[in-house]
Amino acid sequence: MADPACITEELRLLREQLRRFVAEEVMPHGDAWEREGRIPRSIYKLMGDMGLLGMRHPVAYGGTDMGPVASVLFAEELARSSYGGLPASVLVHTDMSSTHISRRGTDEQKRKYLPGIISGDTIVAIAVTEPGAGSDVAGMRTKAVREGGEYVINGSKIYITNGVHGDLIIVAARTDPTAKGSRGISLFLVEKGTPGLIIAREMDKHGDLSSDTAELFFDDMRIPAANLLGDEHKGFYAIMDNFQNERLVLAGSSIGASAKAIELTLDHVRNRQAFGATLWDLQATRQRLGMLATKVSAARALTYSCAELETRGIDCVREISMAKVLACEVHVEVVNACLQLHGGSGFIRGTPIERMTRDARIQTIGGGATEVMLEEVAKRM
Ligand SMILES: Cc1cc2nc3c(=O)[nH]c(=O)nc-3n(C[C@H](O)[C@H](O)[C@H](O)COP(=O)(O)OP(=O)(O)OC[C@H]3O[C@@H](n4cnc5c(N)ncnc54)[C@H](O)[C@@H]3O)c2cc1C
Repeated sequence: MADPACITEELRLLREQLRRFVAEEVMPHGDAWEREGRIPRSIYKLMGDMGLLGMRHPVAYGGTDMGPVASVLFAEELARSSYGGLPASVLVHTDMSSTHISRRGTDEQKRKYLPGIISGDTIVAIAVTEPGAGSDVAGMRTKAVREGGEYVINGSKIYITNGVHGDLIIVAARTDPTAKGSRGISLFLVEKGTPGLIIAREMDKHGDLSSDTAELFFDDMRIPAANLLGDEHKGFYAIMDNFQNERLVLAGSSIGASAKAIELTLDHVRNRQAFGATLWDLQATRQRLGMLATKVSAARALTYSCAELETRGIDCVREISMAKVLACEVHVEVVNACLQLHGGSGFIRGTPIERMTRDARIQTIGGGATEVMLEEVAKRM
């Protein structure tokens, strides 16, 4: 696939570095991580040493501040590993959670947390979703009450990536009980080990098995008032703002995984003999893969154009919502078609295409379900 103009020489070098990293450090171990249900800390440390975890953080705190285009490329390459749990876990750390600290943290918070986040010593999670509030973020009920120099937090969160093995959780809670809906929500920095923070269970999932997912309870969890992240009561707007990063990298990871699934399938159909020739010799196969590659290219072009708009500071909520829908829906379509073309072998547990089909399923749900994204588009039509 030809690269868009925003992929500079520097980013091409980054891509080469990422491809080597995936080939040498991920592919030999990916199956074991799936069984263990986690990405090992050593991988975070290695990525930190390679300068891969600070791309969205300021240079002053040890980051490289490479911007949204680099984030999309990073997401694409991690997903090309074929192990969806890797981008799920790492992108939550780099683009979906810790960016709140860079954007809204005090100097003291940045100095305290960013170096460890960038080096891979401190793994971060973001806890917004609740059992009764998913797509409808404003419906959250977890409460944070100020008592002197502390906040006391009570409530629960569900489906929290990195919630089991992470070290720092950015928790959203309602700070103004009288405010309705999106008003009166704030963000907090909660360190693992804080009394009252309970990891209720590690959730068993359909896919992305190597990323850990937790249900959390907060039982009179006390944190210093200094751990308020950003302005009090303005957390909902911070969450919506950071959703743009989140949706861009989700689109990026869907594009990378789709391209990989097509590559694996091309390899399969060109070798698989049937009816006196290969599956590739059947026009239906060629045209199906041709159409899928066309859709992935369109999603890729849209996603990178959004990353460019973001870089230029142009409001592109509508376009990012479109990119998230298109890339993630195409992803699900691609893996289903690729499994079909693999025949029975695609249905056997542990083959890449079988795993990729399971991993793809969350992409149209998490970080803004397709229908929610389409509402964002429609509101701006
Ligand atoms: C593996 C995994 C990891 C996750 N990681 C995190 C994390 O790290 N942090 C975090 O805070 N959350 C996380 N989530 C939560 C995720 O973002 C939510 O699951 C998602 O926002 C959808 O919310 P919900 O599951 O409550 O579905 P609901 O809100 O109940 O929606 C269910 C379905 O209803 C439909 N729907 C919803 N709204 C509309 C609408 N307006 N119009 C039409 N149809 C609609 C959609 O089809 C949607 O899929 C994760 C979830 C999973 C499964």
